[in-house]
Amino acid sequence: MARWSDHLRTKFAGAPLKNVALRCGDFAQRGEFVLTETGIEGSLVYAASATVREAIATQGRAVIEVDLLPERTAEFVRDEVARPRGSRSMSTHLKSRLGLDGVKSALLHELLPRETFNDAAALAAAIKSLPITLVTARPIDEAISTAGGVRLDELDGACMLKRLPGVFCAGEMLDWEAPTGGYLLTASMASGFVAGRGAAAFIASTARR
Ligand SMILES: Cc1cc2nc3c(=O)[nH]c(=O)nc-3n(C[C@H](O)[C@H](O)[C@H](O)COP(=O)(O)OP(=O)(O)OC[C@H]3O[C@@H](n4cnc5c(N)ncnc54)[C@H](O)[C@@H]3O)c2cc1C
Repeated sequence: MARWSDHLRTKFAGAPLKNVALRCGDFAQRGEFVLTETGIEGSLVYAASATVREAIATQGRAVIEVDLLPERTAEFVRDEVARPRGSRSMSTHLKSRLGLDGVKSALLHELLPRETFNDAAALAAAIKSLPITLVTARPIDEAISTAGGVRLDELDGACMLKRLPGVFCAGEMLDWEAPTGGYLLTASMASGFVAGRGAAAFIASTARR
């Protein structure tokens, strides 16, 4: 994950970035995520996690691009940033012209070189496409779901291991992944139901022998 400055971490860890868009490779989606002590998390990050994981595995890092104002066109943002601001600071200007403040403004200051704030075109481009470099996922103990596991083609229709009759697998033990929003729980319970029913049938069939 990115390593935030002490200022960003202490002042903004836990702050949500609402109504943003995230791009990474073929992934592009609008939503929200949360700045954490060590990086970012939340529904948009979970949705992008397969793409991010693949990039980290193959390239050692993933660069995501965050659009802080997805409802505004690049032209609109560029024109607003370029408007004369008199003696006002750029932060005040961005807040009054574009409503950019709080954690969004802090993230710009965290990630952009100071010179960019004197270059309206570069600043506007960064607001529409702010790169964040991710280098690793959090430890598995903190994951709400994990990729990988027992391959589905190793199972029969009752979720029993073909190569180990009498052993049944379900839920997170299996090699599948899904976004949050109930899909994980639904698939875990559905596969648990199939495995449980399969195990009962297996016991009944061995008892009859
Ligand atoms: C904080 C959080 C939020 C989540 N939010 C959502 C959500 O909004 N929507 C959604 O769809 N999914 C969500 N999930 C994911 C979802 O909860 C999991 O995908 C699902 O519970 C997995 O079910 P499972 O039965 O495979 O594993 P688990 O629910 O982890 O059950 C495994 C069980 O096995 C037990 N166990 C482990 N080892 C042993 C052992 N050696 N002997 C005996 N028992 C053992 C464990 O104690 C545990 O009770 C969330 C998960 C977390 C952690």
